[in-house]
Amino acid sequence: MKLQFCAKTDIGLARKTNEDLFFVDEKQGLFIVADGMGGHAAGEIASQIAVETVCQSLQTTGLANPQKWLSQAVEKANQAVERAANSNKAWQGMGTTLTIFLLQQQQGYLAHVGDSRIYRLHNSQFDQLSDDHSLVSEQIRQGILTPEQAETSTLGNILLQAIGITPELDICQKTIPLSSGDRFLLCSDGLTNMVSDTEIKETLKQPNTLSTTCDVLIEKAIAAGGKDNITAVVLQINQLNQ
Ligand code: CA
Repeated sequence: MKLQFCAKTDIGLARKTNEDLFFVDEKQGLFIVADGMGGHAAGEIASQIAVETVCQSLQTTGLANPQKWLSQAVEKANQAVERAANSNKAWQGMGTTLTIFLLQQQQGYLAHVGDSRIYRLHNSQFDQLSDDHSLVSEQIRQGILTPEQAETSTLGNILLQAIGITPELDICQKTIPLSSGDRFLLCSDGLTNMVSDTEIKETLKQPNTLSTTCDVLIEKAIAAGGKDNITAVVLQINQLNQ
């Protein structure tokens, strides 16, 4: 498989620290975005522990069964962040989102907890592949709120699940068939709260380099206020059978 990727993160305009973290291991086909939360920079610790735990898990258990490996890696990350939070008063209550995309044998394996997102542009079809584990999204699913009402909801970004916080995770896992030309975007809510899906889609559709694509996405989030840390990881499948 031949692919290209570019990953960028920006602190934004309002935050003093960047609690987002991305990780890419091109050789393993592993792409991760984590968006940490917690006071006193604990969010940075949470996202770091989660990503490190996933990477260690990959080294020790291998990838014979990607779906099983992913769910185990996410569970291990959950336990590791919770353990760390309990070990240090300043870290109590810290947590993180965790969105993992693993490319193996012409498939993309997704495992996700929280409200970071992964999108796919396939031909001109643009889809959000991950479910948002947020109260507002649940209310939309249940028909309590319309998507339009949700945009002005005061419940904002209350998460229903987060790594390090939720004892029994309900991990969003999907297997996505890959096609040459597909573009994927992993991103934090610092992008999606500032930039509409339509704008994200239009940006991904432009025949720009992936570096420019990341820059444009981040610039749009900053132009809209940059209220949070912004992370964008863009990958493109160039050729499948190699
Ligand atoms: Ca965030």
